[in-house]
Amino acid sequence: MAFKDLELIAPILVALNEQGYTTPTPIQAQSIPLILEGRDLLGCAQTGTGKTAAFAIPILQLLYTKKTPTRGISTLILTPTRELAIQIDESFAAYGKHTKISHTVIFGGVSQLHQTNSIRRGVDILIATPGRLLDLMQQGFIDLRHLDMFVLDEADRMLDMGFINDVKKVIAKLPAKRQTLFFSATMPPEIQSLANQLLTNPSKVEVTPVSSTVDAIEQSLYFVNKGDKPDLLLYLLKDAE
Ligand code: AMP
Repeated sequence: MAFKDLELIAPILVALNEQGYTTPTPIQAQSIPLILEGRDLLGCAQTGTGKTAAFAIPILQLLYTKKTPTRGISTLILTPTRELAIQIDESFAAYGKHTKISHTVIFGGVSQLHQTNSIRRGVDILIATPGRLLDLMQQGFIDLRHLDMFVLDEADRMLDMGFINDVKKVIAKLPAKRQTLFFSATMPPEIQSLANQLLTNPSKVEVTPVSSTVDAIEQSLYFVNKGDKPDLLLYLLKDAE
């Protein structure tokens, strides 16, 4: 399977080629066609699986091929940390280089002026951390009435980091008629119930992280000095015979 088999438009294929990407990762191969069809998606995948491109590529294509012109922010991506938000923004810049689709990123801990200026100029895609987004919404800088795509990234980390109430407050302000993509590495009960509440008849895509261990493998840990490692290994191998 190659990116060209996913019915992607030329401006995106050219950009992917420039990035040196030829083959979609498993989450990309599974998610891109479903998102392009307009389906809601529940993606169980960690960072490192290529999940950012799995949602960024079809979002760019849907916006590029949209029949009616967009008015205001049409896509919101919520992610827990400033680092992830910046990475996602950079991905949209890279894959959307030949599309003229506008995007901006907002996060806390820095002055809001630069962020509110770019929002005022008008953006199609907004990437945000929950606290700063709520703050700017409360100040009246952000209008989500025309939103038709919502991505919740790293939902389980939102819960771990104590952002889940902010996330719920944002969700309460979103238009009901929209496509929703929900990504989480794990599905604890609170996250599963949020997914059930947010998604309509979702397709489920699951990829196991490369580093996961098969259940049948028993693991144990020994703390030894570096110089003793070969002896310990020999001892354990002999013991296992
Ligand atoms: P992510 O899981 O979205 O954080 O992506 C992990 C890394 O894989 C990022 O550095 C991407 O630039 C890279 N990447 C994503 N998709 C592909 C692909 N299809 N081929 C090669 N590298 C990729």
